[in-house]
Amino acid sequence: MSLSEIFKDAYGAEPTGFWAAPGRVNLIGEHTDYNDGFVLPFALPQRTVAAAGPSEDGRWHVCSTLIPEPVSFGTTSPGDVTGWGAYVAGVVWALQDAGFEVPPARIALDSDVPLGSGLSSSAALESAVLTALVDLGGLDLPVEKRPALAQRAENVYVGAPTGIMDQSASIRCLEGRALFLDCRTYEVEQIPFDLAAEGLAILVINSNAPHQHVDGEYGARRKACEEAAAALGVRALRDVDVADLPEALAKLGDDVLRRRTRHIVTENQRVLDTVALLREGRTREIGPLLTASHVSMRDDFEITVAQVDVAVETALESGAYGARMTGGGFGGCVLALIDADRAYATAAAVAAAYEKKGFTAPDSFVAVAGPGAARMPGNQ
Ligand code: ADP
Ligand code: MG
Repeated sequence: MSLSEIFKDAYGAEPTGFWAAPGRVNLIGEHTDYNDGFVLPFALPQRTVAAAGPSEDGRWHVCSTLIPEPVSFGTTSPGDVTGWGAYVAGVVWALQDAGFEVPPARIALDSDVPLGSGLSSSAALESAVLTALVDLGGLDLPVEKRPALAQRAENVYVGAPTGIMDQSASIRCLEGRALFLDCRTYEVEQIPFDLAAEGLAILVINSNAPHQHVDGEYGARRKACEEAAAALGVRALRDVDVADLPEALAKLGDDVLRRRTRHIVTENQRVLDTVALLREGRTREIGPLLTASHVSMRDDFEITVAQVDVAVETALESGAYGARMTGGGFGGCVLALIDADRAYATAAAVAAAYEKKGFTAPDSFVAVAGPGAARMPGNQ
């Protein structure tokens, strides 16, 4: 069934239109967001589509092809709607809280962003719904202000303490570009990232590793970074320049804090170095930076698991220019920069390595930099 038919089936009416917002992968810059640092995500071709139209009863009604139970709600506050509906109710709430008159709406969602794999299905959902509601209501909300509202929905309403990256990527990315985002100022720059033109590809390998202790470990990393920043007398670890790192590390008594700090400071520099290379069209040369990022996450930030380490090692053995885990860690996805014609061979090599280790089989796909959230032309 098309999404149009699903909408009609659920609500007995035609949708006004369709709005799509993508998932994302972060090319480099991991755990730097909440340290006021730099990230470099790009939008995936996979996206969430919202078919939407007005609702006559003053409430919001949402259904999803991925979840059996639809959700309905009126005006709510954080905590009132839980489960997957919280992402949608959170967007309505964040808009209302910012003073907007949000149009009551009926929404049907479909998505090919895998849920809970670190490709940010949550931001894709929030961004698709936000864009639909802004357009339906004719709300005066410039694109650059939208990510923070979607982030509030996730932080305050859903209760997930994430940074600004996911929503910024889903809303602001452009086709053929990576989004260089300064997480302190929210300034963005569109960086050329046209892999196909250079015969390159990014292979994304979903490790399918079971997520374990993710929330607790994430909280512990954040706390360590805050402690280190306080001990160094800076607002955030972003304020430690890589040239001053040895001096900073000497000031920190605790070895764990030292390693966490070294990851963040060197990772920020790797983002800057990656951006500099991409600006010059030297895409292959970012490979070693990707791999160095992985080593830093594995040894200093300690957020990788065996499945992602094996995927990175195997991709490199198979000829990748560089490879790293992407996303918060403890599972999730790996990305590898490869020659475009090596995608199948690399994916097969990783699958074989997983089989040998007795891991759950991985899923792989080739990612190109797609567009950010937008209304879609025509019918779906
Ligand atoms: P990620 O963002 O990495 O995919 P999250 O845990 O942040 O993982 O978000 C996943 C959650 O978002 C799902 O468990 C579900 O509640 C919600 N979600 C995302 N996409 C959809 C969708 N298309 N339909 C319904 N719920 C969705
Ligand atoms: Mg998410």
